[in-house]
Amino acid sequence: MTLSRRGFLGVAGAAFGAGTLHGGTILSAFAAPSTPNLPGGKEHRIVQLEAFQVPPRSVFVRIETDGGLVGWGEGSLEGRAATQVTAIEEYRRYLIGKNPFEIERHWQAMYRGDFYHGGPVLTSAISGIDQALWDLLGKALGQPVHQLLGGRARDRIKVYCGIGGGSPESAKESIQSALSRGFRAGKMGMPETAEILDGMEVIKSVYNQVKWLREAAPDDFDILIDFHGKLAPAMAISVIDAITELRPFFVEEPILPENVDALVRVAHAVKAPIATGERIYTKFEFRELLEKQAVAVVQPDCCHAGGITEVKKIAAMAEAYYVGVAPHNPLQALSTAACLQIDACSPNFLIQEQGNLGDGLLKEPFVVKDGYIEVPTGPGMGVEIDEERLAQLRAEWKDWETPRLWHKDGGVADW
Ligand SMILES: [Mg+2]
Repeated sequence: MTLSRRGFLGVAGAAFGAGTLHGGTILSAFAAPSTPNLPGGKEHRIVQLEAFQVPPRSVFVRIETDGGLVGWGEGSLEGRAATQVTAIEEYRRYLIGKNPFEIERHWQAMYRGDFYHGGPVLTSAISGIDQALWDLLGKALGQPVHQLLGGRARDRIKVYCGIGGGSPESAKESIQSALSRGFRAGKMGMPETAEILDGMEVIKSVYNQVKWLREAAPDDFDILIDFHGKLAPAMAISVIDAITELRPFFVEEPILPENVDALVRVAHAVKAPIATGERIYTKFEFRELLEKQAVAVVQPDCCHAGGITEVKKIAAMAEAYYVGVAPHNPLQALSTAACLQIDACSPNFLIQEQGNLGDGLLKEPFVVKDGYIEVPTGPGMGVEIDEERLAQLRAEWKDWETPRLWHKDGGVADW
């Protein structure tokens, strides 16, 4: 049977309405018979999918089955929480009534089944749902997600915290605070905005801040530098040249992510290792970055790049280029939990960012000791949410907007 797109949509709509989805070649793609449910005797179908805002700037996904299982995920997109709630809940139309354990098929259906693919809104929505489905599968089998992805590649996961300081004294305080909390690595952000080309003042300011931190830290404390895409290629080369003698562990997002050839130019002109990836989504967008050998480290975000399913694949692609993976993670505790599952089973994992260890939300927050977090052993994403505390947090929600930065002349600066 051959159907025009318009004709097909009409038939499909009628079939959905009537609940009869068998027969035609095209329709059968939507009505593919489910593989058997998992052992344990209980049938599971998705009966509820809910998304909601959680301070300071996250969106959680909660998926429930008729077997009584609940899976959690985080599908945040900073500054676009209301949009994300809608984007996630629109996938109810596809997911309700489905077997939750066919994660790959659901990923493909959510991404490829729609005519429009990708972009941060849709891939973040898919990410949150994907995490929740992995959480359900792990809970159904009584196994942590990393076990289902091949098992441990390590026992402990190296983590870093934020550091900073606008003077030698405050840099010292920042390093002491990181050490006292168990960290052995920290990342500073570029404090200023920068023009396409800027002079000595900006270069010296970045150099001094790295130097003060380096002087305050022991040699076995790694210092990472995040430029947040604030520099243009020529300026990035000048600034990275200046700080290279201070041996940054890596230099993150020296320029914006849209032009991979421009990043290749920077990477080939400097000696410091380059990392990027927090604003790059799915395997399709990481492909060019890897093929052109633009980076030493990729930083896919488990809440933006396509969830656990996709970040595991991106890590494997990077492995073939001898590139490390350091998942981006400035969000809530569920994002941290998802990252740790990937880190545990990815051989080329390097170091994990964390903005939230679950204090005040998880029944057992993650613990950093001697620079590492132990690989979580609990089922699914390995965490249990304190639902009373979550309800309180939800009531405290305030809309968060990305702060806008301006140059001295009133022009828009990159954040
Ligand atoms: Mg960053």
